[in-house]
Amino acid sequence: MMQSTAAVAHAPAGAVSTCLAAFGEWLRRHSRVVARVQWIVVVAYAVLIGVPAFLPLPPDEARWFNNLTVFAQWAFWGVWWPFVIVSMFVVGRAWCGLFCPEGTLTEAASRVGLGRGVPRWLKWGGWPFVAFTLTTIFGQLVSVYQYPAATLLVLGGSTVAAIGVGLVYGRGKRVWCRHLCPVNGVFAVLSRTAPLHFRVDAAAWTANAGRIPIHPVNCAPLVRIRRMTGPSECHMCGRCSGLRGAIALEARSPSVEIATLPPSLARGWDAALIVFGMIGLAVGAFEWSTLRAFGELRAFAVAHIVDQGPAWLLADNAPWWLLTHYPEAHDVFTWLDGALIVAWIVATALIVGGWVSAWLAAAARSIGGAWRANAYALAYTLIPLAGVGLFVGLSGLPAALAHSEGLRLSWLAPARAVLLAAAAAWSMYLAYRWVDGRSRRGEEERLSPSRRIAALLAMTIANAGVLAAWYPYVFR
Ligand code: SF4
Repeated sequence: MMQSTAAVAHAPAGAVSTCLAAFGEWLRRHSRVVARVQWIVVVAYAVLIGVPAFLPLPPDEARWFNNLTVFAQWAFWGVWWPFVIVSMFVVGRAWCGLFCPEGTLTEAASRVGLGRGVPRWLKWGGWPFVAFTLTTIFGQLVSVYQYPAATLLVLGGSTVAAIGVGLVYGRGKRVWCRHLCPVNGVFAVLSRTAPLHFRVDAAAWTANAGRIPIHPVNCAPLVRIRRMTGPSECHMCGRCSGLRGAIALEARSPSVEIATLPPSLARGWDAALIVFGMIGLAVGAFEWSTLRAFGELRAFAVAHIVDQGPAWLLADNAPWWLLTHYPEAHDVFTWLDGALIVAWIVATALIVGGWVSAWLAAAARSIGGAWRANAYALAYTLIPLAGVGLFVGLSGLPAALAHSEGLRLSWLAPARAVLLAAAAAWSMYLAYRWVDGRSRRGEEERLSPSRRIAALLAMTIANAGVLAAWYPYVFR
């Protein structure tokens, strides 16, 4: 009780602050309730991911209320995945800490596993980018959104890997979530815009050393709590709430962390994930199947191969766990299809990501100083546009499902356009605040108005390029 009172005392005045701090304390005190909810989610996840994979494909007239496979499709891809992305903008990584079945399972496995230390190779900063890239491309090859066997393969495979990592590394920790989860990097960058976080009051931490008894805290995602400055790595589990009377759930401006990010703290791998992964790769992955140009390229390639060979490229004998293979649904990929899909997605990522990178570099050079670090920091200003782009892309499957339910969605394209435009405006506001703050901090020299305008113009062109890349998907 002593700690909880102290935590509330350090929160800013106001009913909202008091309620937030109290809720953080509630999370800490009711860890058993949280654990029960987590295991209920695990059971629901296991049923929805496992059972449909062994059922026949649903007939055309199947609906969510009379067919488990269609219900699971809605649950995973219509509701869960798009709205987990949205939740990062609102409550940070609360999904990870309070609900995620993989987090629950890997932590449970880690309690009874070998308890080994985390090796260096697992801490490599590029894993979030590599894991997201490979999972996104593989998901397209096996049609993860369409078929329950593919869903079991991708999500179930990830879950098995999470349990395996838990059984080997850490003691009651979430080593998988911290280093290898395919969406860890995406969630980490999106939650930088979260208006809620567990704030560490450094002065109170120091002042209360030895005065307030410390309750033992198991921070499962291995956050260095004392040095925590934002919700990027924190899973919002609340276990450290009130620690030393210095930690409380608090509100903040959703723009403050990115607008004030020092270039020295900007990470190159985060910038790559935002620019080439969440923007470039996502555009390619969501758009290829909707574009006439892809169909024309495929027809051209088929005609060429029929004339010149090699004929095996047109064979459709790949197993379902490598390329989509559902003859009963008249949906079968040839080896050529697989190669074209990978090439299309990678080329789109390079073109769109390359465009954005070039203008980030131009903006950073306008600012002067360490241009590479500045470019990395400016990449974070694109997080709203990258995150909303993911949401818009993911809205494709629920839209298709709703269409099959007989719903007409004439408002969908304008709604997507408005969302992307609003996100681009937020990204530009962040860029303005970041450049303005850098100018006022004046680390090297005060920025002249012309250099500031040049930097913001370059950022405008970068944002416009992303909007243009999403145009065909929005108005298909
Ligand atoms: S820092 Fe760790 S213990 Fe504290 S809320 Fe975040 S995840 Fe939980």
